[in-house]
Amino acid sequence: MAIRIRIIDDLSCPVIECDHCGKVIERSGNYEWKPDGDGMIYFTHKRCCRAFENEHGGRSAWFCNEVDCLPVHLLNNLGIKYKDAAAKVGRLAEL
Ligand SMILES: [Zn+2]
Repeated sequence: MAIRIRIIDDLSCPVIECDHCGKVIERSGNYEWKPDGDGMIYFTHKRCCRAFENEHGGRSAWFCNEVDCLPVHLLNNLGIKYKDAAAKVGRLAEL
């Protein structure tokens, strides 16, 4: 749920924060949702996953997937090709 903009080296950078500890997730983590819930997505470090789940209904209440899969699913569901999006980001970075 916590996708935010952080200013890093004067750049506005989208980051994902862990919904358990609040620190930025880098490289590996999970996104989680309750299959019988409202569809909200929560993010955790792998080391925070079980603690987060235990504090919010228990492990069996949650489905999760690795966070590196999320951009691929989003691109597919948005109908966006990675190559086109990467080229646009490159052009915008030059402005
Ligand atoms: Zn964490």
